[in-house]
Amino acid sequence: MDQNLQTQKILKEKSANNMKSTETSFRDRPINIDETGKRKWIRAKQPKGKWYKRRSLVAWLLLGFLVLGPLLRINGNPFMLFDIAHRQFYIFGISFYTQDTNILALVMTVAVVSVVLFTVIYGRIWCGWACPQTIFMEMVFRRIEYLFDGNYRGGKRKPATGFKRVLKYIVFFITSLLITNVLLMWFIGPQGVLDLVTEPIQDHWLGFLIMLGLSSFYFWIYSYFREQVCTMICPYGRMQGVLLDSRSITVIYDYKRGEPRGAKEEGDCINCKQCVSVCPTGIDIKNGTQLECINCTACIDECNLVMKRINKPENLIRFDSAEGIEKGKKNLGSTRTYAYTAVLLILFGVLVSTIIRRTDVESSILRVPGTIYQEVDNNTLSNMYRIKIINKEKSDKTLIIRLISPPEGEIQLANQETLLVGNGALESILIIRLDKNQLNGKSTPIKIGIFEGENLLEKTEINFIGPAK
Ligand code: SF4
Ligand code: SF4
Repeated sequence: MDQNLQTQKILKEKSANNMKSTETSFRDRPINIDETGKRKWIRAKQPKGKWYKRRSLVAWLLLGFLVLGPLLRINGNPFMLFDIAHRQFYIFGISFYTQDTNILALVMTVAVVSVVLFTVIYGRIWCGWACPQTIFMEMVFRRIEYLFDGNYRGGKRKPATGFKRVLKYIVFFITSLLITNVLLMWFIGPQGVLDLVTEPIQDHWLGFLIMLGLSSFYFWIYSYFREQVCTMICPYGRMQGVLLDSRSITVIYDYKRGEPRGAKEEGDCINCKQCVSVCPTGIDIKNGTQLECINCTACIDECNLVMKRINKPENLIRFDSAEGIEKGKKNLGSTRTYAYTAVLLILFGVLVSTIIRRTDVESSILRVPGTIYQEVDNNTLSNMYRIKIINKEKSDKTLIIRLISPPEGEIQLANQETLLVGNGALESILIIRLDKNQLNGKSTPIKIGIFEGENLLEKTEINFIGPAK
């Protein structure tokens, strides 16, 4: 009898310890690793609800942009193209040359600051709504999986087996191949991809190997590695701890309303764990904001369905800040937010003005090293410059180089070549002759214009060297 009581006591203790370890194990190890160190597969249930619909819409728009971006053309230019091999870049139909690195650097700076700013204000909204990894995993591959495996419920339903499983992975590989080809279009254009897939392999063996390698890599990511990209590899997730503060808006569980939780408890949370069953990274949002949460909103939708069923108000899990939950009001503003917004607006302003002021032709005019001025005759002096002109457009241009100020001077291109082919560059020696009366002294500022017909494409100011007065 004593022994029975003792056994019952031990079992009770064990069960309590087990419960405790399940509730707190998220602090000790990644959610997809079990206590023996083995991978635990996350088989998330398909979400249903208004947030999932909104997210699907955003995903289809972004996927449409991904596919159509390199296919569309504006004024004969590709809408989007990053042809690194030929140094041709088109963003929204505007051509950029390798000399436009200032714009590229600005675009990248603005992008990084935007992501930081958005994280400070809206948490990881990028991860759940716009990150290609999430869009491909949740909106493409996961949906293919639901077609073959059915809708999982907390991982309890087994995935497809046998022929169905093989077929699922064949579809996975074909989809990976399609994604690779779409991505390649962004770098070699639609014609490049067409050549790659229609011409003999020996003519494009490198391209073929890249395509095969990338497709295999994507297949491995979406069939095996999956959510671990977000939970273990992506550095952005790890930056969360630094970027978020108590005023950042994230997907969050209202513990004030939900606790104490349980079917018979006073709080609104009935501890049904439906929010966990839909989570693509397998976490329990009730444990608070976690590195693995990609702000996908699936748990909001699922909990709302539960709340409807038990006749409780929706949004027990919602977009809110930790401070908002604590104080019962949303708070978007913080000094850090305003500072980031100001920096972002300034950067946007600089970016827009740089793009607006960007010309189709770019030139640099520098004095030939080691030269000063030459006496042409008693009244005239000449200076010698090296001129380089780059045509950023695809079309050829016939250029005329004129002296804008002072207008009376004479300008001469050493080789008289002024036809500049599309995306071509011209380098030449430029000789400028000025009357001595027009000089101010040792250095006289002059303005050179590069024209196409009567159309001024670019204006440059340089100095003309003369004797001291
Ligand atoms: S779905 Fe809602 S009610 Fe159910 S456990 Fe999650 S938070 Fe609680
Ligand atoms: S906790 Fe909610 S929002 Fe975060 S990843 Fe899981 S389902 Fe998505």
